[in-house]
Amino acid sequence: MKVRVLGCHGSDQLLDGDRGPRQCRTCGFLINETVMVDAGTIGSALRLTEQKRIRHILLSHLHFDHIQGLPTLADNLVDDVVNPVVLTSTTQVLNDLQFHIFNDKVYPDFLKLPTPQQPVFQCRALEAGKESDVGGLRVTPIPVNHLVPTVGFLIREGASSFLYSGDTYETHEIWRVAAHEPTLKAAFIETSFPDELNDLALASKHLTPSLFAREFRKIGRPDLPVYIYHVKPRFREEIKRQLSKFGIAHLTVLEEGQEITI
Ligand SMILES: [Zn+2]
Ligand SMILES: [Zn+2]
Repeated sequence: MKVRVLGCHGSDQLLDGDRGPRQCRTCGFLINETVMVDAGTIGSALRLTEQKRIRHILLSHLHFDHIQGLPTLADNLVDDVVNPVVLTSTTQVLNDLQFHIFNDKVYPDFLKLPTPQQPVFQCRALEAGKESDVGGLRVTPIPVNHLVPTVGFLIREGASSFLYSGDTYETHEIWRVAAHEPTLKAAFIETSFPDELNDLALASKHLTPSLFAREFRKIGRPDLPVYIYHVKPRFREEIKRQLSKFGIAHLTVLEEGQEITI
């Protein structure tokens, strides 16, 4: 599997760095050019021809930083719909998406436009804990512990799989599944705030470096390659410094534009 990082932060921000400014974008990961995991970033990172190749979008939850690419993707595709893009998540997330976003108030209902017979988007509900085929990948949604109903995903192709945590605070089931998955090659795990903002992490149900280290240990595989995402841009350097103290063997704090082969 090839994972392309379109956006990997907990917010949008232009950051000053040693090598010039760097654009941080919200979470969107493109697998094998056709399946997105979360939709925080799409149109601002992909050419139109690339956007047209997307067939499925896995949504972890409804928070804006994970869906903000959907309205503009719909707008970019609406005059040339061949087959609908399939939005895939739990029933609750999909119902809420229709009720709160594509409701003809916040944005036009692209589940019915340009025509109800051939809309830009179509919804597909997956059952938590059950593996399903999504665009040639085997995908299992697993509920995690966040402010709103949220799932992470175990995503497998052939003999390789990786875990995507979604936004989460301390949780159990997803780590248990990861610990027992023989094909697991990597984990993408959120870390949002530095340790000193522990209270904010608890209130918003996110991880800090110390909480991440405790959660990662639950997988029981210290050598597993782990990719950190959902860092709030203003704390990026501090979070990197705090993560480095744990001496985790294969830890990468993700950057936009990275490509990872799993
Ligand atoms: Zn969230
Ligand atoms: Zn988020």
